[in-house]
Amino acid sequence: MKIERLRPEFVDMFPTAPDAGVFYVSIEFGTCMHLCACGCGQEVVTPLSPAQWSITYDGHNISLWPSVGNWTLPCRSHYVLDRGRVHPARQFSPIEIARNRTQDRFALKYDEWTGSDDGPLDIPDASHKPEGKQQHSTRWDRLRRRLWRQE
Ligand SMILES: [Zn+2]
Repeated sequence: MKIERLRPEFVDMFPTAPDAGVFYVSIEFGTCMHLCACGCGQEVVTPLSPAQWSITYDGHNISLWPSVGNWTLPCRSHYVLDRGRVHPARQFSPIEIARNRTQDRFALKYDEWTGSDDGPLDIPDASHKPEGKQQHSTRWDRLRRRLWRQE
């Protein structure tokens, strides 16, 4: 791992040019972002919810659980953030990755059913009324529009 430590920064919005080595946390949007710890420079977003990630902040450092598996990035890095330290985790086989994704999907579905994930994100934006197909253009799209500074 090129980046061995990630220090937390609590922000309202994610910067357009994030610093490597910073773990950005938006409490308002319940989402975190950092640049991949392998050093490839890709943005890694870890939404906080019971079915996705959770963080622990001890006043100095952040721990993130579960691990970050960047299977969709070319680097396919996999690591654990524990009290600000990045610990490389073992590489998963393609089968394990597929299984992991299936479990993620189930967890997300469960999240939707139980409605345990309806935070401020699901309050409809007055300036943007989703219609028809766009109904499915999901929280994530809305989050992206709202969370990243528009230039
Ligand atoms: Zn990477």
